[in-house]
Parts: sequence; structure tokens; C-alpha cells
Amino acid sequence: HNAKEQGVDIRRYVPLMQMKAAERLKMENDLRRALERDEFYLEYQPQVQLSTKELVGMEALLRWQHPKRGIVSPVEFIPVAEESGLIVPIGEWVLTTACRQNKEWQTAGYRPICVSVNLSMRQFLQPNLAGKIGEFLKRIGLDPCYVDLEITESMTLDKEKAFEQLKRLKELGVFISIDDFGTGYSSLHYLKNMPIDRLKIDRSFVSEVMEDSNNAAIVSTITSMAHHLKLKVTAEGVENEDQLQFLRQQRCHEAQGYFFSKPVRAQEFENIFLKSATFGMPS
Ligand code: C2E
Ligand code: MG
Ligand code: MG
Ligand code: MG
Repeated sequence: HNAKEQGVDIRRYVPLMQMKAAERLKMENDLRRALERDEFYLEYQPQVQLSTKELVGMEALLRWQHPKRGIVSPVEFIPVAEESGLIVPIGEWVLTTACRQNKEWQTAGYRPICVSVNLSMRQFLQPNLAGKIGEFLKRIGLDPCYVDLEITESMTLDKEKAFEQLKRLKELGVFISIDDFGTGYSSLHYLKNMPIDRLKIDRSFVSEVMEDSNNAAIVSTITSMAHHLKLKVTAEGVENEDQLQFLRQQRCHEAQGYFFSKPVRAQEFENIFLKSATFGMPS
């Protein structure tokens, strides 16, 4: 079997392949203890509605404060966590922490926004995922409409399984996004049939959108297709005003990127975005 047939996103495994076996084993052992030792934390990146410039959501991004190495990038450790299966308990920690934080902010009286959480393949394929998430959300009192689960195209390669899983998640009432859209293998057929809510246009297309006319064509096509399919569309990796203007012209719904803010810790997110009347967005 090649990687594509097994539904593996090759890009995620490039760092893994470059890593020496000993290095990898060491990281796996460190990861195994990281949860108990409380070395993970989340950062949140704002998502902005382009028509109103309002803060409408945030993406939770996992960070690892390694005792010796300092902050390790998720690009480096997520593939190791995925391969070892540790991503399941780690991902559960991310989901519960992000949802609790969102609920806490709602309880404190901030205007409700949606929290996006990245799911890994193994997490997504867990048999009772929707049931577990539903129970948890009920327990903490967070309305599922304020939770967005980000999956990637490669996770839907097993069409039947993905469809069933997505259907259960949609019945629960959570939002479903396809992350890094345009870099995977999805067909138009599956876009038409999968119960999803949103496409997140991959940063690689957005970042060169002003320089590369092919990227501009791709962004414009994805946006227009999303409109026709009645899906929401969010641009990732918006770094400057020109890109933002282009996305506005295309009637892209939402954007996320360094132009608005890098991902920040909860405290900073609260101070900058939730406490400001204009949601701290540049005008
Ligand atoms: P992603 O889900 O596509 O997240 C977006 C990534 O782009 C984040 O990198 C974010 O910091 C970065 N980014 C956002 N805006 C900009 C911008 O304007 N310019 C540039 N150059 N970068 C921008 P990060 O935090 O390093 O995460 C990388 C990837 O690691 C994520 O990509 C996601 O695939 C994975 N990841 C992060 N947290 C989790 C998690 O909790 N669970 C799982 N399964 N994967 C995660
Ligand atoms: Mg994401
Ligand atoms: Mg992405
Ligand atoms: Mg990505």
C-alpha cells in the first residue's frame, strides 16, 4: 500500500522521516510524560468575519513547553504523537481544555464565539467520538454550536467511515471544517456529499495570492465554489492588507492570520480581543 491508499497525509510525515530513530524515540518518551507534567498549553488565534470585522471565532493551537528544549513546534511533535497513538489522549486534552476555556469566557460574559479544534486521524476514527464529545459538552454546559472540529481531506479517504462519523458529529450540532483545503485529495463528489460546514483555504495559496496569479485563481475558485455549495469559507495565513482586500472582493467570509494576530495565550486573547469593544481588529 502506498501512503495515499492508507489515508496518510505525506506532508505531515516529512518531519518524521527526517528525524533520526533515536531522536524520535526520545521525543516519544518525553511526549508520554508531557501530559502528566503539564507541559502542554494552548494558544488561540482570532478568526474575523470580513464583512463586519468582528471576532467570530478562534483556533486553538497546541504548544509544548519542553523542560530542556523549550517550546517545540506542533509541526515537529504532532507526527510523533500521531504515529505512537499518544495523539488520542493529547487530542482529548486539547479538545476539553479549549471547550472549557470557551465556556469560561461565555460565563464571564463575553460575547460567545466559536472555538476551532484540530482533530487528528486517529481521533477522528474513534468509534464513539460524537457520543464522548456530546457527553462532555453537556457536562460543562457548552452549546455544541460553539465548537468547530477541523479535519483534513485525507481523513475522508475512507468515504463510508468518514461520512458516518461526520453525520454523527453533525447530529450533535458541532461545526465541521476542512482544514488546509486544496492541498489534499478531496474530489468534488465528496464535497457535495459530505456533511461539512466550511472550507479553510490553505495558507500556501493565500500567502502568495498577490504575487502568483495561479494562487489568485485557486483562492477565487474555492471561494466561489464554497458559495455555490452553501459552505462557509475561511482564509488561513492572511498577513497583509492586500491579501485581505483580495479576499473581501472574492466575498470570502472569514480570515485568520498574522495580519490580525499570531496565536496568543488565553490571558492575552482575553485582554486584546474579548475585552475590546471593536474586538481589537484593525479597521
Ligand atoms: P493548522 O491547523 O493549519 O494551523 C494553522 C497554522 O498556521 C498554525 O501553525 C498557525 O500558527 C499558523 N499561522 C496562522 N496564521 C499565519 C500567518 O499569517 N502566517 C504564517 N506563516 N503562519 C500562520 P502551528 O500552530 O505551528 O500549527 C501547525 C499545525 O500543527 C496546524 O496547522 C495543525 O495541523 C497542527 N496542530 C496544531 N495544534 C494541533 C492540535 O491540537 N491537534 C492536532 N491534531 N494538530 C494540531
Ligand atoms: Mg487548523
Ligand atoms: Mg490549516
Ligand atoms: Mg496546516
